[in-house]
Amino acid sequence: MAIHVSEKKKNYRINPLHMAWEQLETTAKFIKLDSGILQKLKYPKRILTVSVPIKMDNGKIQVFKGYRVQHNLDRGPGKGGIRYHPDVDIDEVTALAMWMTWKCAVVNIPYGGAKGGVVCDPTKLSQTELEHITRRYISEIGLIIGPEKDIPAPDVNTNARIMAWIMDTYSMNVGYSVPGIVTGKPLSLGGSRGRAEATGRGVVFVTQEATKYFGIDLTKSKIAIQGFGNVGYNAARIFYDLGCKIVAVSDVQGGIYDPEGLDIPAVYKHSQKNGKVQNFKGTKNISNKQLLEVPCDILIPAAIEGQITEDNANKIKAKLVVEAANGPTTPQADKILDQRGIKVVPDILANAGGVVVSYFEWVQSLQAYFWKEKDVQQRLQEVIVNAFDEVVEVMKKYKKINMRTAAMILALQRVSEAAILRGLYP
Ligand code: NAD
Repeated sequence: MAIHVSEKKKNYRINPLHMAWEQLETTAKFIKLDSGILQKLKYPKRILTVSVPIKMDNGKIQVFKGYRVQHNLDRGPGKGGIRYHPDVDIDEVTALAMWMTWKCAVVNIPYGGAKGGVVCDPTKLSQTELEHITRRYISEIGLIIGPEKDIPAPDVNTNARIMAWIMDTYSMNVGYSVPGIVTGKPLSLGGSRGRAEATGRGVVFVTQEATKYFGIDLTKSKIAIQGFGNVGYNAARIFYDLGCKIVAVSDVQGGIYDPEGLDIPAVYKHSQKNGKVQNFKGTKNISNKQLLEVPCDILIPAAIEGQITEDNANKIKAKLVVEAANGPTTPQADKILDQRGIKVVPDILANAGGVVVSYFEWVQSLQAYFWKEKDVQQRLQEVIVNAFDEVVEVMKKYKKINMRTAAMILALQRVSEAAILRGLYP
């Protein structure tokens, strides 16, 4: 089966789906995965493409394109965020859905992988237009989502406000309130305490484990973070509260650098007021490219995929890369980092905190019984630390493999075992 490779990505050097396939095929060789199961896991179970026509504020109709991809549902219902971005396309959504399958398996939560997206630029849309896009998109993909089928969540450019519209739209369509349809909701609609910061908090937990394991002193480390959104900002704030030194942060417009360490709460205030982190007093403006190459011990890409490539992997100065974003490192760059002895905590482990607390939120929503924030944090830490330890066990067993391959082996073993046990229908 040939999968559609979009025109745009044909000319684009880094296709996330090709990255995801390469990772899968490399891992399959290690565990001598049956070629039939490999074929099954290479292609998504289901792709739904929808048209999202809405009336714009100027009265004209505009049609947006939306997708929902369910990669694999052998271990449970689909789980994965919804992205609003001009670059969303079928390959990206498919790759992200596949990464969700591995991520849920690595942290051993009972979900399969899914992802959705709408091709749009939210910076050019009013709140009303955004609401209409969300409501129509959810109605269109309503065929395949549901609390037992596939549960969306936030991703790039989507937030708790949008999750509330999703919950309402689905509930209106079925005729009763269904808080379990989506995670990342506001607390007042059955959201979980600690969900908004969960991915960032998970990044911090995993960094604490990785620095211990690789013998790096976190308290003396300099940290650079690309992306100052939900994940990047929350990770930065929690590191800052722990007394760590964050020397650089950035958003889509560029970054700032101060070797003495940034005052993260002040940078946040500044970015809220000015719409960007740049031009913060006492710091040097840098580009996103420069951010990846600043002198630091720990580099945390927390923006979008394909940021660490063969062009800059040789220039990275960090000893440890913690992938808070999905797919920030290309396979070619991965090899270079490996050869240079730079440790990488892979995305499917590093940013799993979000889906873990989403799982907690779904459980709470289904039970209508809500947990205290400290219980959420403690259970998140348990899941992340346990997953980290299990990945380390795989690294020791297979010897000479890096953490990405180990995490992929663990995930692929779990998913393929479920697929084999379920067998083929009919
Ligand atoms: P967000 O929209 O809240 O923030 C994204 C940040 O990246 C913003 O600061 C934005 O300005 C910046 N950015 C966007 N394009 C950029 C570019 N080309 N170069 C540099 N910076 C750029 O998104 P988020 O939810 O923080 O997600 C960030 C990453 O983390 C994504 O890869 C996402 O898939 C992944 N992720 C998010 C969650 C979650 O719970 N939100 C969970 C797991 C993984």
